[in-house]
Amino acid sequence: MTNLIVTIPGARRERIVVTGHYDTKRIHEFRFVGASDGASSAAFLLELARVLKARKNPFTYELVFLDGEEAVCKDWDECARPGSPDNTYGSRHYVAAARHDGTIATMKAMILIDMIGDRDLDIRRDANSTPWLTDIIWAAAKHQELDSYFLDESRRIEDDHLPFLAAGVPSVDIIDLDYEAWHTSKDNLDNVSARSLQVVGDVILASLPPIETRLAKQSALAAVRHTGVKKPPRKAITTFLVAHHPSTGPGRLERLGGRHKTPKKKKAAASALVGH
Ligand SMILES: [Zn+2]
Repeated sequence: MTNLIVTIPGARRERIVVTGHYDTKRIHEFRFVGASDGASSAAFLLELARVLKARKNPFTYELVFLDGEEAVCKDWDECARPGSPDNTYGSRHYVAAARHDGTIATMKAMILIDMIGDRDLDIRRDANSTPWLTDIIWAAAKHQELDSYFLDESRRIEDDHLPFLAAGVPSVDIIDLDYEAWHTSKDNLDNVSARSLQVVGDVILASLPPIETRLAKQSALAAVRHTGVKKPPRKAITTFLVAHHPSTGPGRLERLGGRHKTPKKKKAAASALVGH
């Protein structure tokens, strides 16, 4: 099996990953095309690559065409052994590799696209997905008046997002499993629609700026916390002193800042002042 990984560099090294499976289930009893189940997510990623390439991306985007989502056996769990599922081979391998080489640390969010071709598109919230990510996408659908396709109902889905969630990466599964033609000979061009792909594309593209804003804030907060432990920024301490001691002259603050080099001593000086 082979995962195909496309990287579109952005201003940050931190990544937002968009995935979808491109394998088609092997069914021997009839000719299975997989127009929605396999082809729609692959088509979505191809078009998204084209759009993101032309966009100024604050985060690096990684588009992953996942292999081996489908079970080799007929049913999803039929040949599963403890600790060894017979499905989601590509996503499990991808996450394991990222954990192994440490690159999982720069993976900030994951959006999974699956089976979005249904002519009668209805996508429900997935109870396994990360709530804030789901909320942003559903809000974007509502804002674009596409909420008749993104229903305010929820169900629990097992899919390629589970390994990402288990690794602590906020993840969401966008899937229309309410598809009569699922795993039948009818999952062909007659039952899919380009309009459905467009709807999902519009909603996901509209969701990216709020997702990026949230992740950028998160990462700024983490940086402040990080520096805060080692060396609190001088400006923050000065503000603290001024706020609590309007009578303290700026000259005194200056001296305090200059005399005490280490953050610990600065902090002690600050609380001593408050005690006056
Ligand atoms: Zn399938």
